[in-house]
Amino acid sequence: MIYKPYGKTGLNVSAVGFGGMRFDIKQSQAENAKLLQYAVDQGINYLDTAPAYCEDQSEDIFGLAIKNMADKRDQFYVSTKGMPESFDTAEKAIAQVDKSLSRLKTDYIDFYYVWCVRKWSQYELAMQPGGQYEGLLKCKEQGKIKHIVVSTHLRGPEVEDLISKQEFEGVLLGVNILNFLYRWDGVQAAAKLDMGVVAMNPLSGGLIPQNEEFLSFLGAENETATEAALRFCISCPQITVTLNGFTTKEHIDTACKVAGNATPFTDEDVQRIRSQVTNNMDSLCTGCGYCMGRCPVEIPIASYMQFYNQKLLKNKTDEEMTKELGFDHQWGMTADRKASAAACVNCGRCEMACTQHLDIVKRLETTAEWEKTLENSQQNG
Ligand code: SF4
Ligand code: SF4
Repeated sequence: MIYKPYGKTGLNVSAVGFGGMRFDIKQSQAENAKLLQYAVDQGINYLDTAPAYCEDQSEDIFGLAIKNMADKRDQFYVSTKGMPESFDTAEKAIAQVDKSLSRLKTDYIDFYYVWCVRKWSQYELAMQPGGQYEGLLKCKEQGKIKHIVVSTHLRGPEVEDLISKQEFEGVLLGVNILNFLYRWDGVQAAAKLDMGVVAMNPLSGGLIPQNEEFLSFLGAENETATEAALRFCISCPQITVTLNGFTTKEHIDTACKVAGNATPFTDEDVQRIRSQVTNNMDSLCTGCGYCMGRCPVEIPIASYMQFYNQKLLKNKTDEEMTKELGFDHQWGMTADRKASAAACVNCGRCEMACTQHLDIVKRLETTAEWEKTLENSQQNG
């Protein structure tokens, strides 16, 4: 296992982190707790959960495991989270931290996230006087939290703004070998500020293992696309921890094997992958961002095109894409949209700028249809 310094905290964390969002909840909580303990035995010391994961069971599973490992509590780090809109006062934020402490069966939380910042207004809500951040600072003073960190789905340049005041010691981002251009500015900015950088979703929600053949260009000799994707995040010098949502011991073994052999990616390697992704994915949005800032009606084009990638890679039906879009509007890249797909006036500026020469306008038309269906179904039900 590789260990890396987590920003300026003085902590050394495992390059592979346990993401507590994919437990098999058909199994007992005690069985799942054993999986977490197995991971710690394999050298994984960064354990990440959140109140709502796994039908709200994940924190309880963590609590069981932490109780079983009480004698080595100083050998692993636990993180959990709270959303600014759910805990919009300092009092509510403190009460939520206390609730998590009780469920996790621990006296302190190592990393506490201002969770899931998808819109700038959510950051402002967290930071307002008497808001969540103030509550978290009080918890930190009292020793209930060791480090305040943030998780976000914003794009790279917006992430730079989010972290620029250094109110947080680390940042959690959805970054992987396919979408890294979309978030790379943010990753680099965080690394330059000497913050911890935690990558979630390294396999793009299962999309990489499901498209091994198509994505085989990602791998080096004798390396699968999945292994390359894991290696990309795990060995990336700018990424501190790569969270993996583990369900079985085999998943843990695979990630640990990759971490054991991972040759660190150099800046040149990153450039090579950048051009490989660009050259081999000519029908897909690479997230390069060249189209951004050009739209007269402020459609977040790259976010919509990243979303549309799922249609191409997973061959999803219109019905499935409509459902996914509902989720994305709330939690994903399109959550912070100033304008929806239907607002496109077909000026063509984005297509002129697109490095992949994508038919953006046509894709937005299709997306607008999904949005219309979604809106109708929300109104009717
Ligand atoms: S073609 Fe549509 S999406 Fe592209 S820049 Fe013009 S209005 Fe915006
Ligand atoms: S320029 Fe094209 S490939 Fe790049 S982010 Fe925009 S839509 Fe995607």
